[in-house]
Amino acid sequence: MSSNNHYHEDMLSVEEARDAILKEFSVLETENISLLNCMEMVLAEDITSTINIPPLNNSAMDGYAVLAEDLKNPELNHVELDIIDSVSAGEIPQKTITTGKTIRIMTGAPIPDGANAVVPFEETDELERREKGKDTNKISIKSKILHFQNIRKKGEDILKDSKVLRKGILIKPAHIGVAASLGHAHLPVIRRPIVTIISTGNELQQPGTKLSEGKIYNSNAYSIASLVQLYGGIPKIIGISRDDLYELKNILILAMEGSDLVVTSAGVSKGDYDVVKDALKDMGKMSLWSVRMRPAKPLAFGTLEFKSNKVPHLGLPGNPVSAMVAFIQFGRPAIQIMMGKELSPIPRIKAILDNEIENFDKRRVYSRVLVYKDENNLYHAKTTGNQSSGVLTSMSMANGLAICPEYTDRIDKGEFVNVEMFDWPEVI
Ligand code: AMP
Ligand code: MG
Repeated sequence: MSSNNHYHEDMLSVEEARDAILKEFSVLETENISLLNCMEMVLAEDITSTINIPPLNNSAMDGYAVLAEDLKNPELNHVELDIIDSVSAGEIPQKTITTGKTIRIMTGAPIPDGANAVVPFEETDELERREKGKDTNKISIKSKILHFQNIRKKGEDILKDSKVLRKGILIKPAHIGVAASLGHAHLPVIRRPIVTIISTGNELQQPGTKLSEGKIYNSNAYSIASLVQLYGGIPKIIGISRDDLYELKNILILAMEGSDLVVTSAGVSKGDYDVVKDALKDMGKMSLWSVRMRPAKPLAFGTLEFKSNKVPHLGLPGNPVSAMVAFIQFGRPAIQIMMGKELSPIPRIKAILDNEIENFDKRRVYSRVLVYKDENNLYHAKTTGNQSSGVLTSMSMANGLAICPEYTDRIDKGEFVNVEMFDWPEVI
């Protein structure tokens, strides 16, 4: 490892860039959202129950509601009870149990007045009576029963007036189920950010059209939009701007409308046409950075201003892998902040490196790797081929980015390496 802290002094570290960016974001407003759209959103208010769950004592089994006192000694002498009624889930029992009487009851049905236990069918002679044509207005019970056996008590899951879901939780399927069981069709949550995406470049063409000579398809808008979705935001692909100052400014103004973040790709590297830089200079505060990372060194960040509207702007590099790596580093936490989530670091694992990683200019290298487990259950990381920042297929074969730190010249095969895993659910 060599160390030279004076190298690249004009560059920002990934952390410095991230801190500067995140300062400009804050939590968005609360909205009432229909239950099924609340997954992985942050609950904005405590939810208190206005009901008991279950609302009434009810049966945990299909069986017979009885007075436990009637079944004191069934081993010696099967107790025979009169069936006076039957009740199923959703009904209200109309009759009261007194000694010697029973009501046939189904799971979930409210317990009749007077009853204090439920005997399951299996503990009775119901089947036998039917088969043998005996009196089915009566039932014999073969076992004893404890008070409240097979009865689910009113409020045993949720008590009326109790706080059930706490403000700030990240909503998961069971929370959605609980909210539904309380009768909520909507929940107050912090809304999802709308992220508007502009691709810049004369060479770009939309997928779905016939490719003209010299052109390439616009892939950045789609990979970035997918990351936005993955992180919980709402992507809005607004189209392509040619490398033309006037056109770009107009699209930026359009993009700002109703957006919480505007993302552009390309046009931020040195020696570029510089239109993004020029457009942004005219439209607000903008910084153009070199970040000490590979890929994704050039990055623009600022605030677009038009009339009274102000919207943060992230200018990603154009190369497809650079655009994604920069958005993972900087877009992901910005979305987390806007959605009121805790900033969570990208999940990391340590793996044994299968191929060396070289770092020849003291930037932090993010190498596309596939992490897998060997036969001894040890994690390995294997680079997925050509690491050029334009080669998106090696990104598509990877499940994480192995990190070679800034001032480390190389990590050799067989050494341990830290890998930042992609968030998409991947079993390795
Ligand atoms: P630039 O930042 O404009 O110099 O672009 C760097 C490289 O990324 C060039 O090879 C561009 O053609 C490519 N590129 C820029 N934008 C896109 C895009 N939206 N989709 C795919 N490739 C792009
Ligand atoms: Mg370009």
